[in-house]
Amino acid sequence: MDHLVYLDNSATTKISDSVLQAMMPWLTENYGNPSSLYSIGQESRAAVEEARARVAAALGAKPREIYFTGCGTESDNWAVKGAARRLAARGKKHIITSAFEHHAILHTCQSLEKEGFEVTYLPVSSEGYVDPADVEKAIRPDTAIVSIMYANNEIGTIQPIAEIGRICREKKVWFHTDAVQAVGNVRINVEEQNIDMLSLSGHKIHAPKGVGVLYIRQGVFIDNFMDGGAQETRHRAGTENLASIVGLGQAIEDAYTNFDEKVARMTALRDKLIDGLLQIPHTRLNGGREHRLCTNVNISFEGIEGEGILLWLDLNGIAASSGSACTSGSLDPSHVLLAIGLDHGTAHGSLRLSLGKYNTEEDVDYALQVIPTVIERLRAMSPVWQQMMLEEQKN
Ligand SMILES: *Cc1c(COP(=O)(O)O)cnc(C)c1O
Repeated sequence: MDHLVYLDNSATTKISDSVLQAMMPWLTENYGNPSSLYSIGQESRAAVEEARARVAAALGAKPREIYFTGCGTESDNWAVKGAARRLAARGKKHIITSAFEHHAILHTCQSLEKEGFEVTYLPVSSEGYVDPADVEKAIRPDTAIVSIMYANNEIGTIQPIAEIGRICREKKVWFHTDAVQAVGNVRINVEEQNIDMLSLSGHKIHAPKGVGVLYIRQGVFIDNFMDGGAQETRHRAGTENLASIVGLGQAIEDAYTNFDEKVARMTALRDKLIDGLLQIPHTRLNGGREHRLCTNVNISFEGIEGEGILLWLDLNGIAASSGSACTSGSLDPSHVLLAIGLDHGTAHGSLRLSLGKYNTEEDVDYALQVIPTVIERLRAMSPVWQQMMLEEQKN
């Protein structure tokens, strides 16, 4: 393929040049172990601490509240399991989350249910938002932790995080948010937004795969997830992924440089895509438009299957996703689309296009040229669509 239009930035992103440049020395000459006392070890230590300071600055946190992990999934596991296991000792065995979290949270909660925890999965509105009043009503004396994602990875809806955080603080319940999709696209301040714990991941913001962060507010104590050496102030064992940590520090700083300009550009591209695709008959936008990531487009096309759309787009050099990348390959429709009330058929015919900083207006124009043709061709071959058209004619 000589031409690739990459519209799957919510699945992963390309490593940026500045990140790769920042990482190179730590993959080559500067290989010292940050825990070693000789100078190349101490240079590595300084690089890790510099990256920690950059992450802290981006979140409005203190450097000592930032812990490097192996990925966003590990951060989510650590936050929820660590808090649950710590508070179980005080008789708190209830967890609150939402029905449309990433599987890193949902499967963590299911695993805790097997250990005897009780989990409330809050519903979301048809527009894809958690109602803070529902969080308030669900909190009980034995609630250990509330975990609500900052922005949904499939439909891009941004949750009322500060308000949910305020309620949790009032009720003295710890509040964790999976901000993997929000970081770099939304301004985050853990102090102002009442966040106790926050997960993020490197590869969603142009750093490498295999590095993440868990922010843990000072004064919040959770059980360790990884046991071993004394790294990360004895809270996350394992020799630091030095180069990737440096890359993550660079990536998060880049993400908030010229931020407003980037958001404005992404929003314009997103809206052009949404408006263009909604011209196709029998389509709907999934997720509300107002509080929505500037990078997310999610559209259902009635009468056809998402997998078919993806294959045809791939043949035309467009990389996209139907539902989330982690669930494609399974035949179940997306739990996120079911949570906002779509029926199975409509959920199956959905397409997620996620923009990134390397996308151009030409990419969007190309997608708007290819997608309507693909949809038309697939519908022409679809018995479901033909049946729909027959019914429509009868009415
Ligand atoms: C990608 C993603 C994760 C998982 O992050 P990894 O670093 O791939 O483990 C968790 N939550 C959300 C919302 C995501 O989009």
